[in-house]
Amino acid sequence: MPHTRIVMLNDKRIALVAHDNKKRDLLEWALYNRDLLAHHDVYATGTTGKALEEALGFGIKKLQSGPLGGDQQIGAKIASNEIDFLIFFWDPLEPQPHDPDVKALLRMAVVWNIPIACNRASADFMISSPLMDSEYDRLVPDYDYYRNRRFAPNPPEAS
Ligand code: PGA
Repeated sequence: MPHTRIVMLNDKRIALVAHDNKKRDLLEWALYNRDLLAHHDVYATGTTGKALEEALGFGIKKLQSGPLGGDQQIGAKIASNEIDFLIFFWDPLEPQPHDPDVKALLRMAVVWNIPIACNRASADFMISSPLMDSEYDRLVPDYDYYRNRRFAPNPPEAS
């Protein structure tokens, strides 16, 4: 399948999200990596963002709280190439009121081939990658075949 290249710049647009039982983990991780994160553009869902801003002491672009649409806002930003990178500590042991949004967000990350870390070890490997601080050509399938598909209202009857 042909691909298009989307350039990720040196300073990445990173989205951080954590479910309630995982917020402490994310805060500890972000504090430990504060200096690595500081020069990137950091986005977060509402409650996660507020806690991060207080802990890190630099501005975070805060969206709605996750269950109120924040996950969907991040998904939309991935689809419109406004987010390059997702760190999402979701809770595998607790059902969430917005489970469909969680699934949709993870799906958008795969559709647009952005890096996702769903636990601390993956986040450690990603944040310490040399690619974090350099330009990177992200290959995204060329979805024109999908956009240009035709809907046949009256399929020919089977003979
Ligand atoms: P929150 O949302 O940061 O507003 O708690 C996180 C989520 O559950 O998606």
